[in-house]
Amino acid sequence: MKPMSLLKKRLNNTEAKKINIVEIFKTVEGEGRWVGLPISFIRLEGCNLRCSWCDTTYSYDGKTYKEMSIDDVIKEVNKFGLKRVCITGGEPFFSPALPELVKGLLKEGYKVFIETNGTLWNNQLEDIINENVYITCSPKPPLYFVHRKLIPYISELKFVIDSKITVKDIVKPEFIDLLKNDIIILQPESNKKDMVEKALEIQDELLKLGIESRIIPQCHKILGLP
Ligand code: SF4
Repeated sequence: MKPMSLLKKRLNNTEAKKINIVEIFKTVEGEGRWVGLPISFIRLEGCNLRCSWCDTTYSYDGKTYKEMSIDDVIKEVNKFGLKRVCITGGEPFFSPALPELVKGLLKEGYKVFIETNGTLWNNQLEDIINENVYITCSPKPPLYFVHRKLIPYISELKFVIDSKITVKDIVKPEFIDLLKNDIIILQPESNKKDMVEKALEIQDELLKLGIESRIIPQCHKILGLP
């Protein structure tokens, strides 16, 4: 085989692809519409943002990760024997090997969830995303910016309700099609009581605009799960 063909083969070989992994674990889905179902989590290293209330700062401290091949990541997930796997972070789109990981997991028959802050995109995913990929986008303050190429693929739009967010941050022109689809989640910051009250107020305001939303807490924290 010619050297170029060998190189091409290697680039196409998921075994050759490496990705930085913070942790892989089994739990129940704690947030959003799939809450309560058993699911495996793959936490990728790195994030392009620094949210003040971030509860996974260890995912981008530059120390808490190991480099693994995509094949080894999939082997770890297979050990749990579940149907669903969630790729989280950090910010999953921060990892250049995200498309290879998604492709490998889909090939194994998983329903693949991706939790993203929505600010980044990877063109390679255009050919990979199918009905078995569920993208939860949680836009972050202060801009609540979402990459325009990601928007058509969003399955769920989740807003952390903190002291600063307003209805205007949710009802943005670029989210209009998503707002119509009953996929809006309001998640009170750290399950705080005053943020639950604020979420109820925002839910009422959205309803006046004809927009349904769900208030869902971080259930894994209530249950004491990872
Ligand atoms: S986008 Fe997510 S992981 Fe990144 S800093 Fe914000 S909360 Fe933390």
